[in-house]
Amino acid sequence: MKLVTFEHDGAVKAGTLEGDTIAICDDGPDADTAVLQRIRSGETGPWPPIATVSVDAVRLLAPVPRPLRDIICVGKNYVAHAAEFHNSGFDSTGKEATPSYPVIFSKAMTSIVGPEADVNASLDPTKSVDYEGELGVVIGKTARRVAKADAFDYVFGYTIINDVTSRELQKRHNQWVIGKGLDTFCPMGPFVATKDEVHDLDALELVTSVNGEVRQRAVVKDLIFDIPTLIATITATATLLPGDIIATGTPAGVGIGFDPPVFLSSGDRMDVSITGLGTLSNPVV
Ligand code: MG
Repeated sequence: MKLVTFEHDGAVKAGTLEGDTIAICDDGPDADTAVLQRIRSGETGPWPPIATVSVDAVRLLAPVPRPLRDIICVGKNYVAHAAEFHNSGFDSTGKEATPSYPVIFSKAMTSIVGPEADVNASLDPTKSVDYEGELGVVIGKTARRVAKADAFDYVFGYTIINDVTSRELQKRHNQWVIGKGLDTFCPMGPFVATKDEVHDLDALELVTSVNGEVRQRAVVKDLIFDIPTLIATITATATLLPGDIIATGTPAGVGIGFDPPVFLSSGDRMDVSITGLGTLSNPVV
C-alpha cells in the first residue's frame, strides 16, 4: 500500500495510491495528519475508500506533512560519501573519515515540503545549498531496546527524503540544526510505501539527478550502518515512536564532492528516485 497526503478541490485529503488512481480515504478536517494517525493506529489492513481521483487532478504533499517530531537523520553513512564530506573542508564533526558509530542528528519538522514544492535556496545567505538524496524509514510501533534481529518488526514502511543542506551554515554552527533546518529544506515523498511493497531492501537503488544529470547512484546495501543497526543503536537508549522517520544517509556525489564545490541555485531541479518508491522532484528557487 502506498499512502499519500494531497490537496484536491481546495482541501487537504489522504488516501492510497494505486497506479495513477488515488483512493480518497480521509477528507476530514484532520486529513493532514491522517497518514500519521494510520501509522500510529497499527492498522495494516485496507484503508476503506470514500471516492477515487486521478493523481493528475491533485497536488501531492509530503505523505507525513506534520510528523510528531523532527526527522531523525544519519550522517556519513555511505563510505564514499563519508570520505568526500571529510575531505571537503565542510566537515566540522571530527577526525574520522568513516565513523565508528552512527552519526545521528535531527532535521526540523518545519522544513518538510512535498513533491514539486519550491526549495527556497534564497533563505541561505551563504549560497551553499546542497542536495542529499536518502532512503527514509518510517517507524511503525513504539521501539525500545530493539535487537537487530527484530528491527524490521518495528518498521512501517519507506519513503524518499532529500536532506537539503546549507554547507556553510552546517560548518559555521558545528551542530547541524541550523544548516539542515532551513524552511523548505526537507522534501519528502511522493508516498510512504508499506514494507510489504519492498521485496529486496538491499537491492533498492537510489539515484539523484540535478537538471537531469545523475549525481548520486548507490544501493541500500552500501550503507555503513544498516537499518537494523540504526534502529538497535537509537533504541538502546532512546524510544522511537510510531510515525518517527529516519533519513538513513546520503551516498557520494553531493555538490561538495566536486572541486570546486557545485552548489544549487535558483532554476535548478532535483530528482531523487528509489526503486519502487517513486521519484521526489523539487525545483530550487
Ligand atoms: Mg543527510
